[in-house]
Amino acid sequence: MNAIPLDPASLLRHSGTRPPLEAVPDDEHLPAQADIVVIGGGIIGVSAAYYLAKKGYGVALVEKGQIGAEQSSRNWGWCRQQNRDARELPLARQSLGLWGGLQSEIGDDLGFRRCGLIYVTTDPADMAQWERWGAFARQQQVDTRMLGAAEARALAAGSTGAWIGGVHSPTDGVADPSRAAPALARAARRLGVTLHQRCAARGVERMAGAVSGVVTERGTIRTATVLCAGGAWASMFCRRHGIAFPQAGVRSTVFRTRPARDVVAGGFYSPRFSLTRRLDGGYTVSMPAAAQLDITPQGLRYARQFWPSFRARRKALHIRLGRSFLEGPEALANWQLDAVSPFERMRVLDPAPNLSAIAATLAEMRACYPGLGDIEIAQIWAGWIDSTPDMVPVISAVDGLPGLHLAAGFSGHGFGIGPAAGQLAADLIAGDRPAVDPRPFRYARLVDGSPIEPPGAF
Ligand SMILES: Cc1cc2nc3c(=O)[nH]c(=O)nc-3n(C[C@H](O)[C@H](O)[C@H](O)COP(=O)(O)OP(=O)(O)OC[C@H]3O[C@@H](n4cnc5c(N)ncnc54)[C@H](O)[C@@H]3O)c2cc1C
Repeated sequence: MNAIPLDPASLLRHSGTRPPLEAVPDDEHLPAQADIVVIGGGIIGVSAAYYLAKKGYGVALVEKGQIGAEQSSRNWGWCRQQNRDARELPLARQSLGLWGGLQSEIGDDLGFRRCGLIYVTTDPADMAQWERWGAFARQQQVDTRMLGAAEARALAAGSTGAWIGGVHSPTDGVADPSRAAPALARAARRLGVTLHQRCAARGVERMAGAVSGVVTERGTIRTATVLCAGGAWASMFCRRHGIAFPQAGVRSTVFRTRPARDVVAGGFYSPRFSLTRRLDGGYTVSMPAAAQLDITPQGLRYARQFWPSFRARRKALHIRLGRSFLEGPEALANWQLDAVSPFERMRVLDPAPNLSAIAATLAEMRACYPGLGDIEIAQIWAGWIDSTPDMVPVISAVDGLPGLHLAAGFSGHGFGIGPAAGQLAADLIAGDRPAVDPRPFRYARLVDGSPIEPPGAF
């Protein structure tokens, strides 16, 4: 095995912490008026803008930094029904269908392929959980298959893991996070959506209690309808308008490798790391052991709602007090609409990666796949995963402020369901019949005293 020079700190200096991302052209002039203003150019905002434009609406999308530069370019790219919470499964199914069709519909490459996802484990508790999910999934006609030890080892050929079993979803797949949001944004623009990057929305204006405009750092857009798809910043944005949105973030570190031998075609999950084959021939590697929970004012505000899901995951989380207490999406913040807002102060939420688990993950990966013995890390980054207490997003009108809609809180699995979530938001705004039941995603469930339904499999 070749020695690999591993110095994460110099890798960060050399390659930076912003993963590859395609550029998107801008529209210079902010419109004075729009039918709908979309705030946030992640996969959710651009999908919603695309489907709203297809319905014939005049849409302006404002993004404080760069299209796709936060969570939507930092994820693994998995688009799956496998291990989905029952409430999200219809959205996941709808989205897989859309991903396939969108590439030809927009004439651009989203990097989507149905390459299958394999989960393997050495832990009987994982098997029990997957068995329970599999029984439910079979009733729902999900294309998924439990694997015994021999099948798991055969499917994970080339790995040395002592797998006791696993689960395989052959028609799930991955899309390319460096391309998907930019390609959809460009497609939306061709349909007439105006795109404004480096243009933060500071807040909404009201008339007679309803939305009447969006104040941005470049001026005000008159509109009666706003979709806030601000990812991790959505709660801060809502709170400025007296709207509570329980949301909490976890910092997750990943790395990508240089091109390496082809040991898995699509996605491979094991309890210690996951691998996603990239179109550039490398892998995106996840490090569950490196997840961090920062103590923040917002986290403390909603601690009671998040306590059950925190308790379930606490062994996997490193808790720390750092700069996120003072800056970023969960810090304390007050601002006037005619002054610089926290959104402009942090154009791109680019959290510091947790370097502590890199060497151990690389060693485990090399031991598990000897064929990757000489693999090299090309870049390390982190993403801020925004969650709701029940790990299901909000895609809904917001009671209390007519004209405001919210699509956020995608809880670590919003990329794969992005197209269908954007389509659902567009249908709800237009008053059209949605393709899936929107009730699990209603905003009110998080604030009206309804019991928090525990997260299903994820
Ligand atoms: C490491 C990691 C791995 C993941 N793996 C997967 C996976 O394999 N599959 C999957 O389905 N999901 C995965 N996810 C989750 C997925 O990436 C997110 O759920 C999804 O990208 C959320 O999209 P979004 O558009 O809501 O948010 P974002 O992509 O974060 O976009 C929100 C945008 O809003 C902008 N914004 C915020 N406030 C304002 C404002 N006031 N004015 C203007 N702009 C504003 C921000 O700048 C940002 O660009 C992963 C996430 C991470 C971090």
